[in-house]
Amino acid sequence: MVEKSFKYVIVGGGVAAGYAAREFAKQGVEPGELAIISKEAVAPYERPALSKAYLFPAGTARLPGFHVCVGSGGERLAPEWYKEKGIELILSTEIVKADLATKTLTSAAGATFKYQILIIATGSTVIRLSDFGVQGADAKNIFYLREIDDADKLVEAIKAKKNGKAVIVGGGYIGLELSAALKINNIDVSMVYPEPWCMPRLFTAGIAAFYEGYYANKGIKIIKGTVAVGFTADSNGEVKEVKLKDGRVLEADIVVVGVGGRPLTTLFKGQVEEEKGGIKTDAFFRTNVPEVYAVGDVATFPLKLYNELRRVEHVDHARKSAEQAVKAIKSIEEGKTIDEYDYLPYFYSRAFDLSWQFYGDNVGDTVLFGDNDPKSPNPKFGSYWINDGKVVGVFLEGGSPDENKAIAKVARVQPSVQNLDQLTEEGLSFAIDAQDVFFVRMRLTGSNLALNEDCKLLINQGTGLSIAWVKRPLNRVAHYPARASLQHASLVIWDHFH
Ligand SMILES: Cc1cc2nc3c(=O)[nH]c(=O)nc-3n(C[C@H](O)[C@H](O)[C@H](O)COP(=O)(O)OP(=O)(O)OC[C@H]3O[C@@H](n4cnc5c(N)ncnc54)[C@H](O)[C@@H]3O)c2cc1C
Repeated sequence: MVEKSFKYVIVGGGVAAGYAAREFAKQGVEPGELAIISKEAVAPYERPALSKAYLFPAGTARLPGFHVCVGSGGERLAPEWYKEKGIELILSTEIVKADLATKTLTSAAGATFKYQILIIATGSTVIRLSDFGVQGADAKNIFYLREIDDADKLVEAIKAKKNGKAVIVGGGYIGLELSAALKINNIDVSMVYPEPWCMPRLFTAGIAAFYEGYYANKGIKIIKGTVAVGFTADSNGEVKEVKLKDGRVLEADIVVVGVGGRPLTTLFKGQVEEEKGGIKTDAFFRTNVPEVYAVGDVATFPLKLYNELRRVEHVDHARKSAEQAVKAIKSIEEGKTIDEYDYLPYFYSRAFDLSWQFYGDNVGDTVLFGDNDPKSPNPKFGSYWINDGKVVGVFLEGGSPDENKAIAKVARVQPSVQNLDQLTEEGLSFAIDAQDVFFVRMRLTGSNLALNEDCKLLINQGTGLSIAWVKRPLNRVAHYPARASLQHASLVIWDHFH
């Protein structure tokens, strides 16, 4: 049986693996040192494309067009790139056993792979209705979407069931993107989900009302507050009907189920410390086992900004965590140090002509702003989340690149807000203006300091060093003392930083 040995092995060949490979190449890796072992038959690609352009009838995305790292505007790493760099891509190979004590992986075909350093990047798998024993859930043409093979099967069904009927089970990311993609293919679409509105883990009722209205205007039927409890099939074993808990029965030629995922950690159970359903890591994606790292969907890591451990199932984190792990590996080898991972959560989605971005944390009070009329020719709206008097999260539909940059900055800087009505009124311009926020370290002398609304003191250490934020561009910061109502105090700009 084959036995191979590498300095570095990445198990899993998805988004994180691809971005890790690029970072290894950047940092310097010798031919033969690095291997990626993947169950999939293709080199790492940008997985989000599977629920978007991969399914479109026109402008269709196909490999090699969307190999990593095109999703973040980087170089496209086609299979030849790995060859040139001497990185071994071991495809169509499922690892079925991982022995972290002897640093050995075993494939389904019985091949063994030894490593010095392991990066776990196995991602997630879908939750299946058959896991809950839903009757008839193994009928043909009931699809799940995680890997390119799943997408290929769905594309075939879309062709075979031209102008047919589809039922989408689930109202999350996959449900919303798939409903749009099938509708664009002229399929008659119904969505079914139990929650009172779509994407309840992120969307507020106000945000969801827009998307539900927009989808309804496109002719998508939305059935809320119930679940699929069974399926009937025709004599070919193909799905024919979806039975709902409330007694309704929907005709279906195609069913797509998007009811969530779970991280693929089973191989490592009992061998690594787990937390919140994932593999626990530090800020460098090191697990508790020496020389074993975990990145992407499987990692539960310290989210510094919120001072808590989190697992994040989004592509931006998969990319960045992979890069951080490789930097950490290399820095240890070179006896250097790197900064801790300091991630700002970022999620996005696109469907029809819509496109939204979200940054930060969706906790606390919410303020909806802008034009969220589903019939509007150019809808542009968003929501702020305010926790402990600070803006901690921002959602924006229809933002320009600059506007999206502005909301990202707000979520990172977390400016204070006293008045939620004012925030509603200012809407997006609050985020745009907040880009002018500077933190200013200053020395205060004297007392009785009164600042106007453009400046707020964050830490006042009496007449010592203080930190304030100043809602002014830099050139005006220099003149700030003249604008503030300073009484018996002098203020010297000490330093400034974003
Ligand atoms: C259809 C779809 C659309 C998405 N759209 C968005 C989006 O719009 N925005 C967003 O932020 N996120 C989106 N995501 C989520 C995002 O793609 C994931 O968070 C990201 O891919 C995680 O990267 P990863 O490398 O951890 O895992 P993955 O990219 O899932 O890669 C894991 C890889 O490991 C392989 N593997 C697993 N177990 C084994 C094993 N035992 N042996 C060998 N190989 C194994 C898998 O086959 C796979 O190739 C989407 C996900 C899906 C499925």
